[in-house]
Amino acid sequence: MTTRFEATEAWARARDQADPIAPLRHEFEFPRGDDGMPLVYLCGNSLGLMPKAVPNLMQQELADWGRLAVEGHMRAKTPWYSYHENFRETGARLVGARPGEVVMMNALTVNLHLMMVTFYRPEGRRTKIVIEESAFPSDSYAVATHVQSRGLDPAEHVIVLRPDEGGHTISTEAVERLLAERGDEIALVLLPGVQYYTGQRFDLGQITRAVHAAGAIAGFDLAHAAGNVPLALHDWDVDFAAWCSYKYINAGPGAIGGCFVHERHGQNSGLPRYAGWWGNDPATRFRLHLNEAFVPREGADGWQISNPNVFSMTPLLASLGQFDRVGMGALRAKSLDLTGYLEFLIGPVSPDRLEIITPGNPEARGCQLSLLIKENGRAVFDALRARGILPDFRQPDVIRMSPVPMYNSFVDVWRAGSALVEALRG
Ligand SMILES: *Cc1c(COP(=O)(O)O)cnc(C)c1O
Repeated sequence: MTTRFEATEAWARARDQADPIAPLRHEFEFPRGDDGMPLVYLCGNSLGLMPKAVPNLMQQELADWGRLAVEGHMRAKTPWYSYHENFRETGARLVGARPGEVVMMNALTVNLHLMMVTFYRPEGRRTKIVIEESAFPSDSYAVATHVQSRGLDPAEHVIVLRPDEGGHTISTEAVERLLAERGDEIALVLLPGVQYYTGQRFDLGQITRAVHAAGAIAGFDLAHAAGNVPLALHDWDVDFAAWCSYKYINAGPGAIGGCFVHERHGQNSGLPRYAGWWGNDPATRFRLHLNEAFVPREGADGWQISNPNVFSMTPLLASLGQFDRVGMGALRAKSLDLTGYLEFLIGPVSPDRLEIITPGNPEARGCQLSLLIKENGRAVFDALRARGILPDFRQPDVIRMSPVPMYNSFVDVWRAGSALVEALRG
């Protein structure tokens, strides 16, 4: 057992004082309990906290709408016409992409469908999509209905990858084995960057290599990975990815999602896609009825359909700006310690009462720990909530705790860990 942590509030407090990015916490609003005290918020995996900079930015857009109306497209403080271009660099850096490989648009599941329109090309024997067992329901629905829309039966054409024998997680070897055995049937592998339920982080670089060696396409759902773990989508040669911005990216409920298309596909104007005017080359976009054929803009921008939803994109100016300022490197370094500390504090709890189903290897997880409570999971969750700790609960019996390096402190983790140990003792 490591000795780098101590289970005392004094240690946690000192650790916060030594943390160079601790002041970031003050840039966020925290929800409060009935006693008026800020809650220990460990739900960043579900809905990130609001950056305090957001209300002024929203007010600016509303004022510009009122003041300028249609002329706001060009003359607003942040012109609406090119709004999505504000995230060209920051959005790309967050996921290890080149500018032009990322566009912020729509929402996650919509983007998964749009990506499948292009990248799921069932042909001959190669017709199948691989997803993981217990995938997030929206992903399962999207894959099944997408396969159906091509006239294929999901029962036959969706391969569900099960956890390794006796475990909760799926090893890279299991993915490689499937590809070695059935690679010539597989058109697309669609796996998570970090699995929402178990918190397992997948090795996207190695998986992409294996998928490509089998002749298939590698796409990833980064809902729980973007803003949580460092990513290098370009260098890993990932074909496409999609994510949401309301979890670790703190851009608010239903925020505009992100989409990555590798440069080598972005330059291919011949790829099939569902087009709309916003994906068209801006040089000819406004020729409207004079324009006969759709000419996709190069890069991920060429997958846009509609003009940007400005009010929903505004929080991204604040949140992606924060990520860009701090950098995933500093966030990940703190994240490893915060989550390691939580694991350390829970360590003494008897395995009869609790099992951590998230991998123990820090490289194989993000910030989240998923705690399988052996008895009365809901009551344990309620006991934590009564003490001002707010994790989340997933039926039937998993409590997810996600200390987020952007705004959680070591004292937060100490409070949550000690409350949990106490709840499970009583
Ligand atoms: C949060 C989440 C979603 C939500 O999809 P939306 O289209 O943003 O509503 C989908 N898939 C996964 C894996 C998620 O974690």
